[in-house]
Amino acid sequence: MDNVDSTRPSRGVDVIQYGTDCMKLTFLGATQTVTGSKFLIETKDRRILLDCGLFQGSKELRLRNWEAPPVDPKSIDAVVLTHAHIDHTGYLPRLVAHGYKGPVFATSATVDLARILLPDAGHLQEEEANYRNKHHLTKHKPALPLYTVSDAMSSLELMRPVKYGEVVSLSSSLGFDMMHAGHILGSSFVRFREGSGGTQKTVLFTGDIGRYGQPIIFDPASVDAADYLILESTYGNRLHAGNEGTSGKDQLRDVVVSTAERGGTVLIPSFAIGRAQELLYILRELEVENKIPILPVYVDSPMAVDAVDIFRRHVEEHDLEMAQLEKDGGNPLYTQRVHFARSVEESKAINEHRFPSIIISANGMATGGRILHHLMQRLPDERNSVVFVGFQAFGTRGRLISEGARQIRIFGVDYPVRASVHVIDSFSAHGDYREILRWLAGFKRAPRTTFLVHGEPVAAAAMKDHIVVSHKGWGVEIPAYRQTFEIN
Ligand SMILES: [Zn+2]
Repeated sequence: MDNVDSTRPSRGVDVIQYGTDCMKLTFLGATQTVTGSKFLIETKDRRILLDCGLFQGSKELRLRNWEAPPVDPKSIDAVVLTHAHIDHTGYLPRLVAHGYKGPVFATSATVDLARILLPDAGHLQEEEANYRNKHHLTKHKPALPLYTVSDAMSSLELMRPVKYGEVVSLSSSLGFDMMHAGHILGSSFVRFREGSGGTQKTVLFTGDIGRYGQPIIFDPASVDAADYLILESTYGNRLHAGNEGTSGKDQLRDVVVSTAERGGTVLIPSFAIGRAQELLYILRELEVENKIPILPVYVDSPMAVDAVDIFRRHVEEHDLEMAQLEKDGGNPLYTQRVHFARSVEESKAINEHRFPSIIISANGMATGGRILHHLMQRLPDERNSVVFVGFQAFGTRGRLISEGARQIRIFGVDYPVRASVHVIDSFSAHGDYREILRWLAGFKRAPRTTFLVHGEPVAAAAMKDHIVVSHKGWGVEIPAYRQTFEIN
């Protein structure tokens, strides 16, 4: 078996020598950052990649996507995905383009969502390369896409849907199962079991951990034990507003009402999958309760249209709350004047509308996609509002605007930020630290090690403090990029 360490001695990470029987865990992404989720699990005869996410945000992070794969794709036996978000799946076409041919396991909803997300990501990569070539914005001649739609389609052919609770065997001694993570449709915790009897060990990765009591999606499944826990920490240093008083729904109502009174537009950068549907659900409720005026709501993403259909198809993942509404007639994910823009022409037409309206467009951190054109149009006008409803990673336009930048650069042009800017954390699909502690309270014994991932340094450090205070004796590590741990 190749040693993963052979690919990284120059990176200043300790190279550990291993016995033949030991299990190794190498952190290839989402270390002290919230993107690029990738973890390599190695046993004596298997090499499994857990998540295959794209790095997003700062240039330093994005450049990692372009490096040679951190592990030879041909040497990997299986890929397991926790959920469909691009920071967990978006590197898969690149892995496949570099020779990966094995199975890719994920829940069936994740597979359905990936069918929309990955080709779209390939399309965006191709478009960006074309744009750079056309406008001579590249040192490379020609600029190439990170991967293509065709690479994305090849990666979809490897997908194998898995049911929650089904035990999938990867070798005579290694298997895994999946549980609801409560984050987005299809999201899962993945629990690996290695060995048998007294020497069996379990490794559980939360992926992104969801929230309790959300509409539509189930609560995170409770877990009472794992020998090694890989835990996300996106909101390790923050509480969502809804947990401290004003609800996100009330905040959204206030923004919609005040913006409509000014004759402006509410622009909501949002992931097309999950959060966009949740927003429609809440806007519909506000309309029914007569708390906001009935405005045109433009959902500007070809993916969001398909995602609504996927929600309909995967009723096994819905709360009763939503099922009941559907039974009563009407679509709980449609507001009264909702318009879905699938084509580029439909998207451009939204720019012609000047009356009060609401626009939901991807991507959620304003790093790319149709949202950029809407920001160019709407940021300079003080009648408008921009509402951030998800985590904004360091180095993204979303982070800059939400932290008060007065102007923002898009396609090489600076635009003044005159629109009012709002951040509504409580629509986040991630649990805050109190919700994560609530989930951890289900553990009947301490994991031997809890590895904190998916958190910027301050968030991960704060999450570690919270765990150490509330769970005396737990060993908590914050792994470095490409760091390997021997787990026995
Ligand atoms: Zn996610």
